[in-house]
Amino acid sequence: MDALSPDQIEELHQNLLALREELRTLLSLSSEGVRPVDLDEPIGRLSRMDAMQQQSMLQANRRAAQLRQQQVEAALQRLREEEYGECLECGEPIGQPRLTARPEAPLCLGCQGLREKRR
Ligand SMILES: [Zn+2]
Repeated sequence: MDALSPDQIEELHQNLLALREELRTLLSLSSEGVRPVDLDEPIGRLSRMDAMQQQSMLQANRRAAQLRQQQVEAALQRLREEEYGECLECGEPIGQPRLTARPEAPLCLGCQGLREKRR
């Protein structure tokens, strides 16, 4: 993979800033919907299960968004330190195609694959 050109870095920087705004909005909206299901609420058993299922989905989405937000912040930090685009694991360039798809990616495809296999 080639290292990023200054133009590519600038473009990815803009993508990261847009993504950060998007996640911030998403998280501020979803915080309204996350509250414990009130088991004493006079609703039917089925709709209660629906509500709990819906809520666990909401919480999973929210956790994913929070994790992504952390990765975006870390990527912006690496940008400031001029280390952006290098894999945290092996130090090789992550590559522009991958970063265009996920500008917050901390690892190259190879290292990401290895990490997922270890799980
Ligand atoms: Zn790597």
